[in-house]
Amino acid sequence: MTYKLKCVACGAEYSPQEIRYSCDCKGLLDAEHPLASLRVSRELFDRRLAERWGRPFSPLTASGVWRYRELILPLDEGQIISRPEGNTNLYHSPQLSTWVGLAGLYLKHEGENPTGSFKDRGMTVGVTQAKLLGSKAVACASTGNTSASMAAYAALAGLSAIVFIPEGKVALGKLAQALAYGAKTLEVKGNFDAAMRLVHRVCNELGIYLLNSINPFRIEGQKSIVFEMVQQLGWRVPDWIVLPAGNLGNVSAFGKALGELAELGLIERVSRLAAIQAHGANPFYRSFTGGFRSRETVEAQTLATAIRIGDPVSYLRAVQALRLTGGLVAEVTDEEIMDAKAQVDSAGIGCEPASAAAVAGTKKLVREGAIRPGDRVVAVLTGHHLKDPQATLDYHLGKLEGTIPAYANRPMVVEPTLEAVREALG
Ligand SMILES: *Cc1c(COP(=O)(O)O)cnc(C)c1O
Ligand SMILES: [Zn+2]
Repeated sequence: MTYKLKCVACGAEYSPQEIRYSCDCKGLLDAEHPLASLRVSRELFDRRLAERWGRPFSPLTASGVWRYRELILPLDEGQIISRPEGNTNLYHSPQLSTWVGLAGLYLKHEGENPTGSFKDRGMTVGVTQAKLLGSKAVACASTGNTSASMAAYAALAGLSAIVFIPEGKVALGKLAQALAYGAKTLEVKGNFDAAMRLVHRVCNELGIYLLNSINPFRIEGQKSIVFEMVQQLGWRVPDWIVLPAGNLGNVSAFGKALGELAELGLIERVSRLAAIQAHGANPFYRSFTGGFRSRETVEAQTLATAIRIGDPVSYLRAVQALRLTGGLVAEVTDEEIMDAKAQVDSAGIGCEPASAAAVAGTKKLVREGAIRPGDRVVAVLTGHHLKDPQATLDYHLGKLEGTIPAYANRPMVVEPTLEAVREALG
């Protein structure tokens, strides 16, 4: 028995061999695995993890995505396009735990993926599927990391890549990656949401394979963040998983992953999800505070460009994920995000602004009592510190508009004398 694509809105089913991203009713599609007939166990995945160094060039054991392939996309080695991705560290920092007010705070660092963000986990599956379907070109709209990742995996697979980015709104490191990996890069005069609508039309008209997170195969790959995290914790789920939320692909993937692990009996209960948005890009937060009675949209504005999204594509899937896990949505200001980032950075770990929203949100939820001080919490750091060096510099130099940096570390200019250095060092 194999898997199917199923509409999350009306339940209609489609074959995965067909190129389609949504149902005739416009609902998004999810891969549905025949869970009851899968032969998977904790021992199987633990054995593959142990064999990871044995055959380093086999993605079947070396990749932190394909290790769980029965639950993602059951393929053979030769069909897979992999860097390999995943295998990211789970950090415990006493300094950060104290700062957020928890004993048990862990940080799952997805910035340690091959192109520096969790997007690689979905992209290895999306590009593998594009190749299987015989596509010659792939495209995405992106706030930056999706385009960096897609460009790299397309290059690896020998496909041409076309990225649509909002003009002037993409962090330096991400734009540099897209160009370096050879993607045709179109800067759209408009915001991310406009670029998203455009790329959808272009893909349908020109027969290009669409690799935004509306693509169900990307969601399947991103589930492996949860699989790997839970395995690293000895198959004991944390009380909370806190993550930044933009287009809501990851929230959807995490909910689906937890649901499947529970159904398979690989975990005893599901973690609660806390989705964190920036105050200036908070449509999901607004919908949540209204009891999800209406789907809100906003004109998005935040320093955390990776979550600068006003009309999230995976809204419905994400609502289901929160219902399943008893989750919640919170918002934080850009100042809270950048102060949290300074704390993550100065702990020696480092992350990009959007990722720090998870830590800022954790601190806020502990302060408000939603997360209890004894709870075990994993905050997901979604992207690497060097993705957005400008935001880091502007923070430490006090140049961020509307932000008073609580933890600025300014460089000092000194005369080339011992006296001057002594004075500077206090
Ligand atoms: C894509 C991205 C997000 C947002 O994830 P969604 O699945 O769109 O909600 C957050 N942080 C970083 C660094 C990202 O690249
Ligand atoms: Zn449907």
